[in-house]
Amino acid sequence: MNAGSFKTASNYRVLVVDDEKRLCDLLTASLQKKYQVQSCYSAEQAISEIDRQPFDVVVTDLKLPGKSGLDILNFVKGRDERVEVIIITGYASLDSAVSAVNFGAASYLVKPVSLPNFVAQIDRAVAHRDFYLKSAALMQESVGMSVDVKQHLSNVTDIYEFSRKLVTTLEVPEVMRIIMAELNEKMQPTLSTIGVSLFGLADIYVMPHIGNAHHDAIKEILLSKWEQAFPVLNRNDLLKQNMSVSIFDGKEVPGTMDPNALFVSAVPMMISGKIFGSIAMFHAERREFTEGELQFLHIISSMAAPLVENSYIHMRARFLAENDALTGVGNHRSFHEVLSREIARANRHKGVFTLMMIDIDDFKKVNDTFGHLVGDAVLRDLTARVLATIRQQDVLARYGGEEFAVILPDTDVKGANVLAERVRSAIAERPYIFPENEIPYTVSIGLSVYNGKIPQEKAAVIKEADDALYVSKGEGKNRVTTR
Ligand code: GH3
Ligand code: MG
Ligand code: MG
Repeated sequence: MNAGSFKTASNYRVLVVDDEKRLCDLLTASLQKKYQVQSCYSAEQAISEIDRQPFDVVVTDLKLPGKSGLDILNFVKGRDERVEVIIITGYASLDSAVSAVNFGAASYLVKPVSLPNFVAQIDRAVAHRDFYLKSAALMQESVGMSVDVKQHLSNVTDIYEFSRKLVTTLEVPEVMRIIMAELNEKMQPTLSTIGVSLFGLADIYVMPHIGNAHHDAIKEILLSKWEQAFPVLNRNDLLKQNMSVSIFDGKEVPGTMDPNALFVSAVPMMISGKIFGSIAMFHAERREFTEGELQFLHIISSMAAPLVENSYIHMRARFLAENDALTGVGNHRSFHEVLSREIARANRHKGVFTLMMIDIDDFKKVNDTFGHLVGDAVLRDLTARVLATIRQQDVLARYGGEEFAVILPDTDVKGANVLAERVRSAIAERPYIFPENEIPYTVSIGLSVYNGKIPQEKAAVIKEADDALYVSKGEGKNRVTTR
């Protein structure tokens, strides 16, 4: 084996599939100088072409008449998992393109496609394919290579594959799933776990290697080896249910997890020298990791750490964009989004929903008497009481200042009145106790019932609820009015 036996770029075969013939021809032409390119205008044609001779990179439109780009993806991956597939999609089917990445697509391009971007993505796909083929060729080569060297080469390839998977997503659960699936596959523990303490959140993720497991059984296992497994997390937080434990299903193999997974191997996760979490593997038998395994675990952990942190930053940014900083409930912007969505849904199904506006009575006096910090605490007390009163499907948001809104899906005037009355009395029935002071307060409520049979503008719906609220204020406060 020598370097001369590797493919050169011009030997790489690229297939372009799009039913828009002009676009397809344009894309194909842009690659002609560099690669061996072929084009197809339908999925059926593409599949028979791939069947006839293998390609290194396949670029396909997602929406095709008859079979789709996903059928091509499946067909390609069924023959050779390592073929690079790129999906082209319209903005409207962006969700499907994102899920195509979960099914093994390397990336996606959104129409209108810019040619330089297109060529850059193909170049990147070819570079990855080339890297993979070289590693695979080296591993095939046994003469003169020790077992250690072969094992190392195999680890390098695995780590490379893992790094590619890791960068496909910014979503916390997806990142965790990718890491734990990799650990389960390579290390075969009873279960893989990841503990994270970032931005005031403390979370644990668990994936059994095989089958699934009951929440309580998992919790017991986690608690049994706490110090070893999760040194940066507080055990009491789990006991007091201040910690979220997300359990993923293991490999789709029938069976249940061994509940006696009581031996632990763990490595820290750190960023800039600061430990923010750990990866811990639980085993049913005492086993020492080999040096190679431990090394692998450390490398996985250091590769994963920045991506885990990044996914948390992403999650936090989204939370801050959608939620009110003081109370944690939806903010003004998310209120408008939910209301628009609910109006559209009611119009579509000719259904009903209710908008509830809540305003604290004489709140200025609370501030004037006890100070703004106490006023802030009252606002938090109010959201806690409202959340404890409304149903799962109802959405509470801070409309502004001391005014809140609740959107009650599928709720008519009767149901809305019952709920609003419950909210009103949940607040009026007892004072808020702040260190030593009793602070009684009440709210006025206005309701507007929306009927999808008589569509209305969003502004009109809000005005109706506001007007009703105004009537409650005028008639003496601490009451509910419906318009
Ligand atoms: P009404 O019964 O007519 O609603 O009287 P009110 O005093 O509740 O209403 P007004 O609109 O006159 O005053 C609202 C007060 O809410 C004034 C404002 O300082 C206070 N407020 C708004 N947002 C916050 C906040 O985030 N924290 C605190 N502490 N007070 C706030
Ligand atoms: Mg008020
Ligand atoms: Mg007000």
